[in-house]
Amino acid sequence: MIPIKIRAHHLLCIQGYQGHGYSQDFEENMGRMVEKFRVNPTLPVMVVCETDAICEYCPHQSAGRCTNTTLTHEQISKMDSLVIEKLNLVSGATIGINKLISLTKKLNKTDVVEICDGCSWRECCLWFQDK
Ligand code: SF4
Ligand code: SF4
Repeated sequence: MIPIKIRAHHLLCIQGYQGHGYSQDFEENMGRMVEKFRVNPTLPVMVVCETDAICEYCPHQSAGRCTNTTLTHEQISKMDSLVIEKLNLVSGATIGINKLISLTKKLNKTDVVEICDGCSWRECCLWFQDK
């Protein structure tokens, strides 16, 4: 089975998602992804530090770069690197989504504040708010 590419910090975003996104296409895709992971907990996911299956439907994705103006492409990539580092993962590794989600539970409030620094969704993100 071909793994779904997910950038590392999106492992957190999918757990905090409450239906708010950058566009209708983005929200519909995000909803599908969250549901897909819910009903297929062992689905293989390739963890990456680049645009992924969620960025694919985002209006800020352009030629493989994040063009969001709230945070730069480099700042977004740093979020991914922080998650990879804190969870002792390797970029490009393929692991079941359930195992990845379990790993993220190791992150404490300090980690999450550092990773999510500057994200404009913090106020409506359950992952961030519940930490
Ligand atoms: S606060 Fe932002 S970056 Fe952090 S998990 Fe939520 S949506 Fe993702
Ligand atoms: S804002 Fe950037 S990182 Fe977030 S989904 Fe859109 S393209 Fe991907």
